[in-house]
Amino acid sequence: MRLEKPLSPGSTIGILGGGQLGRMLALAAGQLGLKCHIFAPEGDNPAFQVAAANTVARYDDEAALAGFAKSVGVVTYEFENVPAATAAFLDRWVPLAPNARALEISQDRLTEKTFISKIARVAPFAEVGSRTDLATAIAKTGSPGVLKTRRLGYDGKGQTRFAAGDDAEKAFAAIGRAPAILEGFVAFEREISVIAARGWSGEIAVYDVPENQHENHILRHSIVPARIGRATAEAARDIAAKVVAALDYVGVIGVEMFVTKGEELLVNEIAPRVHNSGHWTIDACAVSQFEQHIRAVAGWPLGDPSRHSDVVMTNLLGAEADRWREIAAEPRACLHLYGKGESRPGRKMGHVNRLGARQG
Ligand code: AMP
Repeated sequence: MRLEKPLSPGSTIGILGGGQLGRMLALAAGQLGLKCHIFAPEGDNPAFQVAAANTVARYDDEAALAGFAKSVGVVTYEFENVPAATAAFLDRWVPLAPNARALEISQDRLTEKTFISKIARVAPFAEVGSRTDLATAIAKTGSPGVLKTRRLGYDGKGQTRFAAGDDAEKAFAAIGRAPAILEGFVAFEREISVIAARGWSGEIAVYDVPENQHENHILRHSIVPARIGRATAEAARDIAAKVVAALDYVGVIGVEMFVTKGEELLVNEIAPRVHNSGHWTIDACAVSQFEQHIRAVAGWPLGDPSRHSDVVMTNLLGAEADRWREIAAEPRACLHLYGKGESRPGRKMGHVNRLGARQG
């Protein structure tokens, strides 16, 4: 369903998923006088602490979904693995943004790469369904390649390097023998992403480009602006704008890209939601990605995405968040903690935006 008229202050937005992204969305909604109702399965749901209403139920619990749909003016989500059946069910009752097509495309790397390759360059890729396919695939993509499960991979999970002559059986075992794609390995110079938004009436807002540094496949820093040429940054923003238009998208999207030494851009993947590499917008822009997403799905005018400060965002993983007292005392450091019950190594517990910071 499409949204017929903008939600007035006091209305409620439904969010599927109760993690830190849902929490930051609910906080941004609160600033605009909007309420949030979070729907999430049992677990540590830090978004519950800051929302007006919460439902704990499975994503296939239709009675719970129907009750949720009735209580809200629009439904959005904070993670891309919302089951297709859940999205289809909700869409019958209430406007859903981003739409089910964006979910469907981003949930399957083969569909995703095929879709993106019509808009921008991607690494060479090939479908892999069995051990024998892997030999054919590597001939198409070049060696080495990266073998990735088509579905449910994140933060480097469900992927492994594979080179010609490697043991195919071992590579398959490493990704749990799931349907996969093989991608040519990109010897990139840096990784960037573009955070873009599109409203119900088709208006688009695109943020400045962050450069993303990963450690152990987990985002460590986003440095803004990225250390790339102006024309490259413009080209990256243009790709993201084309992606949201092609998807008839409503909300904020994250488009991850590789930049080669010659500053060529290759799109890696899209995330149909607010994105970790956009957390810097909370403190370095007048309108954050979270507020922008709320504005977009609620049918409000999009906000100005321009940036007023250089910034480095650093994720606080596991015990790093225990240093909160020290970070809170740093000048021009904006601390965000997610209120998670349990700290585990590598778990995203919070982040800090250091304004005016430069990183070598
Ligand atoms: P993904 O799960 O696709 O986001 O991949 C996680 C990370 O693995 C990326 O951020 C890259 O650092 C690396 N990676 C993924 N695909 C490739 C590729 N084709 N070539 C080189 N590095 C890659």
